[in-house]
Amino acid sequence: MSLSLSVLGSGSGGNCTLVVLHDPAEPRIILIDAGLSPQETANRLGPLGYRLTQISDILVTHTDHDHLHRGWAKSKRCGDFIWRVSRRHLGEAVAAGIPARCLEPFDERFRLDERTPIEAIALPHDDLGTMGLLIGHGAVRLGYVTDLGRVPPSLLRAFTDLDALAIESNYDRAMQQASDRPDFLKRRIMGGLGHLSNEQSLDAVLTMARSGSLQHVVLLHLSRHCNDPQLVQQLYAKQAPHLLGRLTISNQYAATPMLHVTGQAGSADHPERAGRQLNFLETRQG
Ligand SMILES: [Zn+2]
Repeated sequence: MSLSLSVLGSGSGGNCTLVVLHDPAEPRIILIDAGLSPQETANRLGPLGYRLTQISDILVTHTDHDHLHRGWAKSKRCGDFIWRVSRRHLGEAVAAGIPARCLEPFDERFRLDERTPIEAIALPHDDLGTMGLLIGHGAVRLGYVTDLGRVPPSLLRAFTDLDALAIESNYDRAMQQASDRPDFLKRRIMGGLGHLSNEQSLDAVLTMARSGSLQHVVLLHLSRHCNDPQLVQQLYAKQAPHLLGRLTISNQYAATPMLHVTGQAGSADHPERAGRQLNFLETRQG
């Protein structure tokens, strides 16, 4: 069992990630967030060999416009998907025009199917917060988290033993401070209810990389005004050179390559790990 992902676009102009769950019996193709317009999403899926009609589920981390584009409500495709939204964001999703019959609210733990358990971790971000997603698929574990004001212990407890991690790296602190943004906005972004700085993100990555063996680290939601991919690259070269070869920095304008993720080297069929994966929802309940 394996999965592939491509960040179709990420940033304040719209976030959307394609995840392909390779299941020989029943492959499942999903999106995390739908912050690009339906047309733009289709445009970026095409070169990767996928179409909107193949998407079964859309997981929504939170309902800000850059994660749930309001054009979806007007699209004739809108009713073709299962829109999976945390219970706390349900009202906002309805207000955004997603038909109630297509909405499937989730709580802390849910399943896409028998082989795909998901744990949702509530995180601080503005009023309603956002959800970090730990997606299990067979023996594979993918952590996906963006738009969090800070990294609480609950996230570090959940995001262990990952095979791939996608996490925001929103701003460079010095660039943010020197920017001509109004003070209230700087405070909102940096005050623990906004976004993670490059350093905060790297700290979390280093902690999460200590267990398991990450095949990919994907950085999300880089600010166009207060960040620079080259700076981030340099930061990793200096402080996490061992991760540099596994690093992908997503951007607003084009999809990343398809990144393939398997269960840990040699352990994909290891009964202990596979068993833990399949049951991680249950075993973590205690
Ligand atoms: Zn956002």
